[in-house]
Amino acid sequence: MKCVLVILILIESTLLIGQDLPLSASPKKSINQTKSDSYTPPSPRRFVVKKVPKHIILIIGDGSGLAQWSAYDAKRTQGDHTSANGAIVFTDFPVFGLSFTQSANSFITDSGAGATAMSTGQKSQNGMIGLSADSTPFKTLSEIAHLNNKSTGIAVTCELTHATPAAFFAHQVSRESMLEIGEDFLKGSCIDVAMGGGKQYFDTVALVKAGYALGTGEKAIVALQDQKRRVLFYDNQPAPPKAQEGRNSMGSYLEKASNSILRTMFQNPNGSFTMIEGSQIDWAGHDNDSVYLMAEMEDFDYTIREVLKMAKQQQNTLVVVSADHETGGLSLLGWDNDGKQPAMNFSSHHHSGIPVPVFAWGPGSEIFGGSYQNTEIFYKIKGLMELSKH
Ligand SMILES: [Zn+2]
Repeated sequence: MKCVLVILILIESTLLIGQDLPLSASPKKSINQTKSDSYTPPSPRRFVVKKVPKHIILIIGDGSGLAQWSAYDAKRTQGDHTSANGAIVFTDFPVFGLSFTQSANSFITDSGAGATAMSTGQKSQNGMIGLSADSTPFKTLSEIAHLNNKSTGIAVTCELTHATPAAFFAHQVSRESMLEIGEDFLKGSCIDVAMGGGKQYFDTVALVKAGYALGTGEKAIVALQDQKRRVLFYDNQPAPPKAQEGRNSMGSYLEKASNSILRTMFQNPNGSFTMIEGSQIDWAGHDNDSVYLMAEMEDFDYTIREVLKMAKQQQNTLVVVSADHETGGLSLLGWDNDGKQPAMNFSSHHHSGIPVPVFAWGPGSEIFGGSYQNTEIFYKIKGLMELSKH
């Protein structure tokens, strides 16, 4: 019988808040000091896990609430949720939690504050990247992993400088500062492998000088597979196209990018941290476009299937799927007229304030059950990374 390792970790929040994580003693000069609510997480944290993951994969469906997953699941199963053919998060993920997404200054978060909460454990103000509400830069999960000699990766279907990926390597007052976010990527140098759009926001000459292999186009994914540090752009346009408009003409781009990154991540004996984002689920919600939404959810689901398949082969890998917020205020009102999918009713062109689901699989997944603030996702993953050092 295998010896089951039970580890109890008790982390005092005083250690985690205020003293532990700021990158610098004083914020950048350009940052406006603002007075905002500061979020105090529950104390103390007590994590009990049977097995510590070496590799951690955080998958974010931007704007994917329970209604988005339910609509896609109903479309796949034709309304029979008991079918084994449902959305992968409902069929294969044993742990389910709820994440409350409010930012420091708004009931309705944007992707900058939403991703910053998950990447740094700080409730930020809408529009900010990698900063606490009072504009102090805090270390991100990718930076912490990098400092601990783990490999780090990012795969997205938007610009790499867009709010969600940016929150894992950049520290900026405004998510609109795409060029500065591109500079932060180089300055921090905490991401080993990145794939997505936004080539024009990067100094590609400087990237090469810094030791990154650079590629553009899908063929580069295979051609540069052996390069440990690489940045691959989808094409020369700002954002990759929609799934239904060519992004997946040669098979799912996000699935291929994720597969390629994880193959590199799994080679590091110290472990890894990867963030994968289904970025355009959010854009479909803003457009109130159910066809666009279902295509992006399908692409996201297929990507998660591939990640889970690889994680199962690897054994020591935790997969967490969540969202930064819901988009569109989606409700499912019966079945649409052609009988192929639920009738989707959007109540907004913006984000909503409803909690979003968290699905977890693998070693350490048990601590993701229950309901909590989005910032707890950071503390749970950071806690698991600390355990994996011992
Ligand atoms: Zn959005």
